[in-house]
Amino acid sequence: MPISPDQQAEIDDLRAQPKPTLRAVSEGMETHLYKAHEVLDHGFIRVIDYMGDDAAICQAARVSYGKGTKSVQNDEGLIRYLMRHWHSTPFEMCEIKLHVKLPVFVARQWIRHRTANVNEYSARYSILDREFYIPEAGNLAAQSVINNQGRGEALSGEEAARVLEYLKGDAARCYDHYAEMIDQEGQQGLARELARMNLPANIYTQWYWKVDLHNLFHFLRLRADAHAQYEIRVYADAICKVVADWVPAAYGAFEDYRMGGANLSGKAIDCVRRMLKGEKVTQETSGMSKGEWREFEGIIG
Ligand SMILES: Cc1cc2nc3c(=O)[nH]c(=O)nc-3n(C[C@H](O)[C@H](O)[C@H](O)COP(=O)(O)OP(=O)(O)OC[C@H]3O[C@@H](n4cnc5c(N)ncnc54)[C@H](O)[C@@H]3O)c2cc1C
Repeated sequence: MPISPDQQAEIDDLRAQPKPTLRAVSEGMETHLYKAHEVLDHGFIRVIDYMGDDAAICQAARVSYGKGTKSVQNDEGLIRYLMRHWHSTPFEMCEIKLHVKLPVFVARQWIRHRTANVNEYSARYSILDREFYIPEAGNLAAQSVINNQGRGEALSGEEAARVLEYLKGDAARCYDHYAEMIDQEGQQGLARELARMNLPANIYTQWYWKVDLHNLFHFLRLRADAHAQYEIRVYADAICKVVADWVPAAYGAFEDYRMGGANLSGKAIDCVRRMLKGEKVTQETSGMSKGEWREFEGIIG
């Protein structure tokens, strides 16, 4: 269960006590504040705090004494200009603090993004909950034959059932031994910091994760992408929805230039120019490797 009734009551309590402020408020973000958005079978993301909005980006870019905003169209144009020209520091003026509950193997990928501040639930101090990520049948996929880092068709029938049984059975047995090692019926059991090494990587952990908008976009660009593993991508997708409501103009520019845009090498641009002049360019005449050409074709269709 992502959120227990007690935890939900705490969240409802927080949401029931709005406070007046002189700070910038994003109406879209206020609807998300504290609420848990469920991800995977037991996970969630929820916004704990945030700083800034679209106007804060313009304010910083214009180094303004006041609001720093002009017309909506003007501000959106400025934000798009900043995004287009990799003028990143105005985006760093916005911050977001998330509470995330995620499987340990997803956390290992996530933590590689070094430009955030993290505080994780301590399994030295506390006992981890008996919650494991078990993929839905459609996500129980075979190893991809074309991409060593990817997956192919979903397993089915007996094979899928056997894999599910292994995942559930192994997790349950490891957790039983973990609990048993900690609790020695009244006597001191094994230290929590040691007992936890018996737990599988699909157990859930939690952390607070704070990052600025520029580095969040970098994270989302990599992790909301089709090349990212499904289990981290669904977290990135959930964050994308929140960010779209928080800073709609900045998110729109990010979607257009980063998610929807593409980088072309000098050779690729030369090929596009030759094609526009009517030349039939092939991989052999492009000067690109087979891999580069495949990706180039993927971009230009
Ligand atoms: C699809 C995919 C597959 C991957 N596969 C693997 C894999 O097989 N093995 C593996 O180990 N990793 C893998 N990674 C992780 C990847 O190599 C990066 O470590 C991860 O995406 C974090 O990226 P980053 O360093 O740009 O991000 P961040 O750490 O958030 O940094 C953001 C930016 O800040 C700058 N920066 C941050 N710290 C420093 C620093 N110390 N010095 C200089 N500049 C810095 C860089 O410009 C960096 O791009 C994979 C990632 C993806 C998305």
